Amino acid sequence: MKKIHGNEVLISTLCNMAKSGRTAHTVLFYGEKGTGRKLIADFYASLLLCSNPVDNMPCGICTSCRNVEKKTHPDVIYAETSGKLGGYSVDTARKISADAFIKPNNNSGRKIYIFRDCHNMDIRTQNTLLKIIEEPPDYAYFIFTAESKSDFLPTIISRCVCLATSPCSQAETEKALAEQGYESNEIKKSVECFHGNIGMCIEYMKNENLQKQVDLTKRLADSIIKKDEYSLDTALFSLGKERNDVRNVLSMLDKLMRDASVLLQNPQAETIGVFRDGAEKLSRVITSRMAEKIHISIEKAWYTIERNVTIPLALSALCAEIAEITE
Ligand SMILES: [Zn+2]
Repeated sequence: MKKIHGNEVLISTLCNMAKSGRTAHTVLFYGEKGTGRKLIADFYASLLLCSNPVDNMPCGICTSCRNVEKKTHPDVIYAETSGKLGGYSVDTARKISADAFIKPNNNSGRKIYIFRDCHNMDIRTQNTLLKIIEEPPDYAYFIFTAESKSDFLPTIISRCVCLATSPCSQAETEKALAEQGYESNEIKKSVECFHGNIGMCIEYMKNENLQKQVDLTKRLADSIIKKDEYSLDTALFSLGKERNDVRNVLSMLDKLMRDASVLLQNPQAETIGVFRDGAEKLSRVITSRMAEKIHISIEKAWYTIERNVTIPLALSALCAEIAEITE
């Protein structure tokens, strides 16, 4: 079975549920991308289906456990995403609601539906799922993963047991990555950017696009530090038109603003962004109030992009606002 790093409290909560025989039928695992949401969703599925649990933990070797790991278990159903943004359609929700009334195949007598990365699940889809979640058949379980609880309607959240995933310590991350065979140089670079978020560290080492996004975020920070509107503008334009790229870079830039603000209060504070050096320099040239204003501008830019304002237009407005704030 794949090892889950950190998240000890969450895992013991799940095991205690199994021990007491009160396993939650609807669970949301929420937290930053890379902190183990999907692994933990699969872990919970194994825990529910394992035919031979050891100390209230899935054994990892029975047929059920092995099938869950290979993602071939007939009663673990991954809801299909559709569309460009990888959302879940009303049609998918209807099919799953109907399927949930068909009894499971396996001996454990359970059936598990997993909806991963729900940040784009629209409200109609959620409303369609609501009924089955309110009164699921005894054997049916629903597992969601998302970045935050706010991705869901309050009516859904009130039916869910919500459990937060969290990053590991930096030391734990370095150890875990070394165990997986990554080189120490690479590990060092990735941990500098993504700290205790193992998933993002691995992604960074493997994914050139993410490396480019980090470099671009650093360029943006440098432009703000130098108050160079022209280079800020060029850097923002080089971001392109892929919404996911834009989203990632804006979110990394936003974290830098948060870091700068925190470092203004306490220069020794831990940072969460990809560029501690940059955050330190920023904290010397901007005030908390400016950081807060830039944060609001970044949120506004993303909000308008989500509402179909073209990306170049939203980014050039953002550039102008940042230039004005830091003047
Ligand atoms: Zn097992």
